Amino acid sequence: MKQQDFDLFVIGGGSGGVRAARWAASKGLKVGIAEGARLGGTCVNLGCVPKKLFFHAAHMSSLFSDAQSYGWSLSEGNIGQTLVDETLTGGLSHDWSILKQRVDAYITRLNGIYGKMLDRVGVTRYEAWARLIGEHEIELRDSAGTEQVVRARHILLSPGGKAIAPSIEGVELGSSSDEFFALEERPRSVAVIGGGYIGVEMAGVFAGLGVETTIAYRSSLPLRGFDQDLRVRIDISLREQMSVRPEARLVKIEGSKNGLKRVFLSDSDTPLEVEFVLLATGRAPRTEGLNLDLIGVECSPDRGAIVVNERYQTNLPHIYAVGDVIDRMQLTPVALAEAMRVVEYIVGEPLPPLEYDLVPTTVFCHPNIGTVGLSEEEALKRGQPIKVYEADFKPLHQALQPTPRRVYMKMIVHQETDRVIGCHMIGDEAGEQIQGLAVAMQAGVTKAQLDQTVGIHPTMAEEWVTMRTPRS
Ligand code: NDP
Repeated sequence: MKQQDFDLFVIGGGSGGVRAARWAASKGLKVGIAEGARLGGTCVNLGCVPKKLFFHAAHMSSLFSDAQSYGWSLSEGNIGQTLVDETLTGGLSHDWSILKQRVDAYITRLNGIYGKMLDRVGVTRYEAWARLIGEHEIELRDSAGTEQVVRARHILLSPGGKAIAPSIEGVELGSSSDEFFALEERPRSVAVIGGGYIGVEMAGVFAGLGVETTIAYRSSLPLRGFDQDLRVRIDISLREQMSVRPEARLVKIEGSKNGLKRVFLSDSDTPLEVEFVLLATGRAPRTEGLNLDLIGVECSPDRGAIVVNERYQTNLPHIYAVGDVIDRMQLTPVALAEAMRVVEYIVGEPLPPLEYDLVPTTVFCHPNIGTVGLSEEEALKRGQPIKVYEADFKPLHQALQPTPRRVYMKMIVHQETDRVIGCHMIGDEAGEQIQGLAVAMQAGVTKAQLDQTVGIHPTMAEEWVTMRTPRS
């Protein structure tokens, strides 16, 4: 067995791992990284990136329909391959296989780019699965079964997360979002189980691409944890696009002779019959195979997350963990920020702690949800005296539509400090607006400062600086 020494060895080449490796190498550390699958992790291969491309594809169906209100029309012949398909409006059809091929090709390119970025800064890459065999020793095993051991002064664990499914009869007939990205053809019908990020986003993608879609969630509203006013509105918007089954638990899934899956939900004795069942019932830390028990790295008893302190150190201070495996916020930019903090700590230039309360996020449903800071409910739960400002309007780009997509914005302001502590939005490209507000909130923006800011007219975003009267 070969021995090699590193200042930092990273286990897992997803968003957090790759960022830590690159950043550490650029700071002069000798860095190695092991990834047994494709570089880029969930985000690049089975999450954010391909999902957003599918979202764009789905959203385009509504843009085509919007275009008709502006005088555009489509007819056979005037657009290359356009054929009539009654499942989409306006004589449009969609070719799933073209989209999939292009998305796959783009992801393969990104995998290559990630590799080159690591090579460029001198990170040693191992296409291998890694496990700890000592406090400073890591065993690597590649696809040919070749093993080697490396030693490292510091170790970063960034193995990511994995989809979890409920323990019900027939669960093996359901698929996770990983399998969504392997679908070669558009299914005719789907049942999406779960009203979280993945359920709501994927149901919107299916519906937008002309799939007969049902979403079932066990609560009365989707997106637990989001501001209640957003949840109510997104529930309405989902109902306009698909069949919605609230307060419906998944009981069991059965196969049937015609190849369809029979999905039994708790709100009816009649099963849904669908081609594809997406189980979007959460993701959990992925720690199996790492030998954490052997080395004595502490994990939480409930979800098995690696336990870390504010510097992302485990109970063994030279072993760090970031990203989905620590189960704080399963978001790529959070993993990146955590990774940077680990490296800066190791090189002796610690960054200020990450303010998780100010992490902005978007749900790529139709229209998007964008949010940063506290929901109204969370602010009240924390006993904060608040004022709430709202805007609910028809944006100009929807003014000519027979059924316009409305925009909703909500701002939570601390009554005593005047600081803006929460901004929430439903509307096209909501994330693009919330990102800017997150910068302002990170800088401590007050409502008075927003009031002094001049708007850009006519935009949706100008509403953020023209909300004058708090909700009574
Ligand atoms: P979430 O935790 O967001 O949602 C899980 C959903 O599954 C909830 O609606 C939950 O219901 C439901 N659920 C859980 N267990 C069961 C069960 N036994 N039966 C029925 N329903 C169940 O997880 P996701 O899988 O959607 O996403 C995982 C994480 O990935 C997210 O939390 C997010 O951090 C990240 N992500 C981020 C995205 C983005 O930034 N745009 C996109 C996709 C994922 P209940 O609420 O009642 O518990």
